Amino acid sequence: MEGYRIGHGYDVHALADGLPLVLGGVRINHAKGCVAHSDGDVLVHALCDALLGASALGDIGLHFPDTSDEYKGADSMILLAKVVDLLDAKDYGIVNVDCTLVMQKPKLRPYIDDMRASIAAVLKIPTDRVSVKATTEERLGFTGREEGVSAHAVVLIKGK
Ligand code: MG
Repeated sequence: MEGYRIGHGYDVHALADGLPLVLGGVRINHAKGCVAHSDGDVLVHALCDALLGASALGDIGLHFPDTSDEYKGADSMILLAKVVDLLDAKDYGIVNVDCTLVMQKPKLRPYIDDMRASIAAVLKIPTDRVSVKATTEERLGFTGREEGVSAHAVVLIKGK
């Protein structure tokens, strides 16, 4: 289908002590990690939903059900690669993506460029088309209490 299409994705995971924390395909050094059926990469889940939203191909739960053993502990970057394949099959190219992580701790700035590079490699686009931002909610709500992490993603795709 010709023309530009926009998509939005949002995801939340609870945090618990002693679990690995993986965000944007990058292992983060932190005492807490995401509770999840997969590796809990909340940023990549939001991005998958944004891409599926832009292409009107459903959502992450439709393609990778959390009731399936196949996706237990799954590397979310593999799920993202499968979403890219779904868009490729529909002749959609990815123009740019913009993601926001909402998390009180730790400081994510040292990891941002690695996240951008790992996402860009899977999306098969240059790193300067991949934005990852991090913010806090000023100690308010579930992110502020460090009970969870949320992520937003917006993407633009173009029919070839
Ligand atoms: Mg998720």
